[in-house]
Amino acid sequence: METINADKVKLKSIIGRYHIETKEPCGISSCRTPHSKGYLVVCEGGVETNIGNKCGQRIFGVEFKELETTFKKDTNAQRFRENIDKKQNEITKRVIEEISKLRDGEGKAEYLYERVNSYLTRLFDEKISSALIQRAKRKDPFLYEEILLTSKEREVAQELGGNTSTKREMVGVIQGLSAVAEYKTMRRYVLHDLGQDLEAFKSLKSELLSYEELRKWNRWASQFEKKINETKRIMSECNRFLGRSNIDFVRENKVLL
Ligand SMILES: [Zn+2]
Repeated sequence: METINADKVKLKSIIGRYHIETKEPCGISSCRTPHSKGYLVVCEGGVETNIGNKCGQRIFGVEFKELETTFKKDTNAQRFRENIDKKQNEITKRVIEEISKLRDGEGKAEYLYERVNSYLTRLFDEKISSALIQRAKRKDPFLYEEILLTSKEREVAQELGGNTSTKREMVGVIQGLSAVAEYKTMRRYVLHDLGQDLEAFKSLKSELLSYEELRKWNRWASQFEKKINETKRIMSECNRFLGRSNIDFVRENKVLL
């Protein structure tokens, strides 16, 4: 590697990072300290050298900081583009059909959304609906009732120093309660994230995207599978919630909600 005199050269850009076991003397002539980590830079005029991890900013200040920001952005943009291109290849016709099968038809996401929504907005009375919403928020599907202690039990309780006259007993568990908190998310996924966004994603040309767009679509591409799985999970919660016996159980135990 060549040595540069920091007072005489102007840095043009950072072209890479290095991290090696055997330390390499710093390319800045006033430093020459062996560093194991740093940057590969190119100066105006074409000279390339390595400079230590902290030396760039210490010696070249703001100028270096700006080059570093550009370098990181370029590296990220490259990574985003690769991820987007890769995902575009993975999202085949089969995958798209699979998603539309999750969305449309009886028993599918849109249908389940309507069913859960109609219970919460019309079919249940307001007290039941708001209790279910609260319980779904606290993730508490267990219903208990207070039962009077028998005289025998009361005696035992008193001997132990208590003076309670009732005990709590579990009556049952609301099935698929999380559907109440998540059914709107499920719909947003199938219509928006895995619907409109998927349509847009298929026809993207990653080389034409701005940095912000790359970042957005990279994120989308990374969450794509997770959202399919989440949709399936919430669908099955909706089905459990909508089961005839579960709905009856909720209605019969209104006072315990
Ligand atoms: Zn150095």
